[in-house]
Amino acid sequence: MQVAGPRAFLAPAITASLISLVVVAFVVTADAPMWAYLAVPVAVALVLAPSLRKAARRRTLAQTPFPDAWREVLERRVAYYGRLDEAGRRSFEFDVKVFLDEQTIYAPANGGGVAPVDDDIRVLIAASAAMLLHGRPDLEWPTVRDIIVYPTKFDDAYTIGEGDIAGMVHAQGPVLISKRDLVHGFRKAHDGHNVALHELAHVLDFGTGSADGLPTGLEFVAAAPWVEVVADRLKTVRRKKYRHVLRDYAGTNEAELFAVAVEAFFEKPTKLKDRDPELYAMLQEYFNQDPAALFRGP
Ligand SMILES: [Zn+2]
Repeated sequence: MQVAGPRAFLAPAITASLISLVVVAFVVTADAPMWAYLAVPVAVALVLAPSLRKAARRRTLAQTPFPDAWREVLERRVAYYGRLDEAGRRSFEFDVKVFLDEQTIYAPANGGGVAPVDDDIRVLIAASAAMLLHGRPDLEWPTVRDIIVYPTKFDDAYTIGEGDIAGMVHAQGPVLISKRDLVHGFRKAHDGHNVALHELAHVLDFGTGSADGLPTGLEFVAAAPWVEVVADRLKTVRRKKYRHVLRDYAGTNEAELFAVAVEAFFEKPTKLKDRDPELYAMLQEYFNQDPAALFRGP
């Protein structure tokens, strides 16, 4: 059983402790009235309540059986899941359950409003997040954003069926994903194109406040070399002197380089490791997993 990562509890605990200290200092130094003494436990309870509620909900989820229909989707469509051992699959399924329980996923309805999304599509989106988080149980999904599933590609005006946008993430807004491209991304599991991995990688990137190719949860000491490698590969991809393992779109900017590199890391790990061991090692360290080893063998 895997419960909420330590980060989810640590941040509110620290905040609660600081608030308590301030109130206690006020009570002691100001010869405060009775209500001030009551303020301490109330403040602590208010700050901790959301995290405790979340943890309790996750504990219940951990004891809820994983739906057979969802497992069937993972077995049939998610190559990554198929390579995991028994313990890995249980942990992956738990991450899928948590993601689907805590995230809001819907489709735009004809004539306005929202429409529900089929479970198999919801499971594929959750599976993408579970792949990213698999080696990092300490990492909480950084921002709660709605995920809106469009039937096909769309254009800048969000006109469905026009344009060639398969996915998009707004700085403060929702994640948009084309269902057709999502399904295709999992059907072709080794071509380096997976719109859900790509857009959710952008969400990790936005977790630090801006999309600059530097994802949330990166160790402080890793940041400087990370920025250097990203800047260097950006130049390499743009130069086009030789075909880099990352597709040309990675040359757009740092954020796209990271998102495309994440797609390659999960979909073409052996090739990425052979052709660019430094970039692979950097992603391996960050995601705390080795997809090249996972996909090795029959
Ligand atoms: Zn992108």
